[in-house]
Amino acid sequence: MSYAHKLTGSQEIRLRDFDPEYDAGLNREDGEARLKALSDELMALQEMLYAAGEHSVLMVLQGRDTSGKDGTIRTVIGPLDSRGCNVASFKVPTSDELAHDFLWRIHNQTPRKGEITIFNRSHYEDVLVVRVHNLADKKTWGARFDHINHFEKLLSDSKTIVLKFYLHISKQEQEQRLLDREADREKYWKLSAGDWKEREFWNDYTKAYEDVLNRCSTPFAPWFIVPSNKKWYRNLAVAEALVLTLRPLKAGWLKKLDAIGQREKAAIEEFLKQSQMTKK
Ligand code: AMP
Ligand code: MG
Repeated sequence: MSYAHKLTGSQEIRLRDFDPEYDAGLNREDGEARLKALSDELMALQEMLYAAGEHSVLMVLQGRDTSGKDGTIRTVIGPLDSRGCNVASFKVPTSDELAHDFLWRIHNQTPRKGEITIFNRSHYEDVLVVRVHNLADKKTWGARFDHINHFEKLLSDSKTIVLKFYLHISKQEQEQRLLDREADREKYWKLSAGDWKEREFWNDYTKAYEDVLNRCSTPFAPWFIVPSNKKWYRNLAVAEALVLTLRPLKAGWLKKLDAIGQREKAAIEEFLKQSQMTKK
């Protein structure tokens, strides 16, 4: 069994059936050792992804405030080669963004071939925060689940590998993390009164997230529920999901790279032969 729960739309889920404390019976030391091995493999896979230039990877990170989106990026993505990696963070839309359809600013940030892009929040905010706070009417946000599925199908058909992670924390864990921020001067910059206010809407977000997970989990763009109360486990689960998704593509990339290598080798040999003949 893998560490994150992969959803492809075949079963209806409720979040209360998933334990945010889950750690697969591992301890932190084991978990960090396994992460190291996965991280090494991920670096090698990224190099091949980049060189082959055939696929791109889009990793969507969603979760409640303090669920660890930034920490996941730092730990799992940090070791990768930054030349082939981009992070796009989506904030409250600007007036220019609001003057377009909701996917306009999103599509503009999708990865080029060979690259990995991480969405820190995403188009899903348009059916989460927008729904919970009535920032659009129900007819508008209600139509977006289909728009999102069609958009992600387009990406997938264009050889973008789409993986979506919901970082699952408990309400109690969130409270602890918010209090920790207040107690640590180096974390002061993360303080936001808005986070305590959003907490009041905990159940509304649960409903909104469940609808997202049930309506937008597809074989071509699966959601992963990541138990995230333990940060080391969260990192391990995300890294593993990435590796398990990319690993099967490696053979095809190697074949393509091999063919390129053979062609270049033949060209070099031909060049050397020609230059020897002209010297004679
Ligand atoms: P942070 O991720 O802490 O920097 O906060 C970004 C804020 O932008 C969060 O409060 C999000 O809910 C908000 N946000 C992101 N996308 C949207 C959107 N499409 N509509 C409204 N608010 C959004
Ligand atoms: Mg925040």
